[in-house]
Amino acid sequence: MRKKIVAGNWKMNKTFEEADELLNDISEALEAETIDPSVGLIVCPPFPYLEIASDVSDESYFQVGAQNVSDQEMGAYTGEVSATMLQYMDIAYCIVGHSERRAYYHETDAIVAAKVNQLLAHEIQPIVCCGEVLEEREANRQFEVVKTQIQDGLFHLSAEEFAQVIIAYEPVWAIGTGKTATPAQAQEMHAFIRSLIAEKYGAQVADNTSILYGGSCKPSNAKELFANPDVDGGLIGGASLNANDFLAIAKAF
Ligand code: PEP
Repeated sequence: MRKKIVAGNWKMNKTFEEADELLNDISEALEAETIDPSVGLIVCPPFPYLEIASDVSDESYFQVGAQNVSDQEMGAYTGEVSATMLQYMDIAYCIVGHSERRAYYHETDAIVAAKVNQLLAHEIQPIVCCGEVLEEREANRQFEVVKTQIQDGLFHLSAEEFAQVIIAYEPVWAIGTGKTATPAQAQEMHAFIRSLIAEKYGAQVADNTSILYGGSCKPSNAKELFANPDVDGGLIGGASLNANDFLAIAKAF
């Protein structure tokens, strides 16, 4: 059975004090609330807060992920953070190929593939983002775009390696815009992604792959999005910056 997952992507937000407060708010809220134990909760803060996040998570229910990783193993790559370093910090997950990294830092599918390889070599589960921009959806090219991202970013993996991958479908026009994909649009794309995986790796691998939805997901719309058979949770941006909203989303299954 595939895992249900709610992952929070803090992006480049929060001062150190605010990050500390949010982590403790999440931890306290988790003591007070009951989350379905089949739902995995992941918090992805900026690099400098990974250590405090890890420390708080040791005493709590959530796990910690990074937002990025180098495509290189080690060496003269100023400013980069390697998968070895993340592994050493016990980071279990890492977001790869977020649309902001694709758009602002020119992250191609080949770079996504190299980052995924680095993470898997260091026992970190990649959360691989895919999704079309508005013009592509308006031209009805969303399936072709997502297919290329999945094929070129992931289909070099063996079935065993692919089993470690979590996918996040994030239509770029829905990220941070307040516009959410309709539950039907999300389900349609998630089912399409699962069919691609089934074609490549077989039905069992496809059935076991968690496919998250991302794009203005919040407490008011999470329930109807997560009610779809192929939507296994969410990658949450803005709403993950507030402990109550984040946990309300985790309780929406
Ligand atoms: C994201 O950036 O991954 C995201 C889903 O952002 P938001 O929830 O703010 O749209």
